[in-house]
Amino acid sequence: MHYFDWTATSMPTERAVKAVNTALTEEWGNPSSVHGFGRAAEELVAGARRSVLRGLGFGRAPEGTLVFTSGGTEANNLALLGAAYAKKRRGKILISEGEHASIEQCALHLEADGFEVVRIPTRGGRLDIEAIERVDGEIAVASFMLVNNETGAVYDIPAAVKAVRAKSPSSFIHTDAVQGFMKLRFTPERLGVNAVSVSAHKIGGIKGVGALYIDKASVRSKQISPRALGGGQESAYRSGTENVAGIVAFGEAVTEAMESFAERERRTAELRALLEEELRGTGLVMNLPDKAISGILSVTVPKIKSETAVNELSRNGFCISAGSACSSHGHGASPALLGFGLTEAEADSTVRLSLCHLNTEDEIRELCGLLVRVMAEKQGLRTGMR
Ligand code: PMP
Repeated sequence: MHYFDWTATSMPTERAVKAVNTALTEEWGNPSSVHGFGRAAEELVAGARRSVLRGLGFGRAPEGTLVFTSGGTEANNLALLGAAYAKKRRGKILISEGEHASIEQCALHLEADGFEVVRIPTRGGRLDIEAIERVDGEIAVASFMLVNNETGAVYDIPAAVKAVRAKSPSSFIHTDAVQGFMKLRFTPERLGVNAVSVSAHKIGGIKGVGALYIDKASVRSKQISPRALGGGQESAYRSGTENVAGIVAFGEAVTEAMESFAERERRTAELRALLEEELRGTGLVMNLPDKAISGILSVTVPKIKSETAVNELSRNGFCISAGSACSSHGHGASPALLGFGLTEAEADSTVRLSLCHLNTEDEIRELCGLLVRVMAEKQGLRTGMR
């Protein structure tokens, strides 16, 4: 099996799996229990929290609160819905065009509930800062993803934050950094945001775990209302007994990713360069944003439905994605690709290749060869039928 779908999910690292095992077989206490066995589990969660906070650039004394959730989706729900409903006055909600479904669906929910949502264009993979400047009225909440999961585009969050704050200094600003965490160097402070979502299974942890970082000022002024009420776990932002095994694996995956950050980054960039080189001049169209992470490349296979390409590659042992795995549950063309500037037909013929430091040069060459062959065969078949 040749895996080029690391954006959909990543292989849990050995250390993460070991951490899961320990939490399930030895330290299976309830972190809320007062006895020593419970406290040992609580210690594991606390260690993982420190690790994820270090991954977000915080040293010994973190400035905010990290809330463990069931994944990036829940972290995004908590940020957007939690912030919108915590505000006393109903200002506008800003998001970007082509956000992950876990933000877009929350925005639709808020619209149905009477909020005004403004979607900022992302043509060419660039967040339109001038469009933010043109928004009139109070901006209550803004949420812009750091890295788009379909095109790999890195959005200029500091510029967006500056534009939002120039209008509404007290607006609550969140970024979905699920695809940027441990791929880019960033901190919530440098981005200028109040909250950041991350997910474990994209970085070598396991599925069903994520976190929302909330800065100190927002915690103090109660900028987020909880979505899950109950026993008051996770600073009462997210009640429910913690997924200790998943959380410790997340912490372990972050530590590991930090230890090998530079090496992973260098290797992925090298492989990305080869991928682009192999695709140049083949008739396959690379949808290249101004600034992108090395691990994601959106490719249009002219006149071939993306499902056809995905299935053909799958038959040959290669895993790639049509658009994004998450949007494959929905219908219609991907808003992220349309927002990028593709036509509906082009978006419908677009696949996502995502790679990481574990891929090899040989499989990249084979992947490109296969894509070119599938395109030629299917296009030939089409012409032949006419
Ligand atoms: N945001 C982005 C940008 C994503 O790519 C994903 C995962 N596809 C999510 C949020 C959701 O994360 P999770 O799968 O952990 O719910």
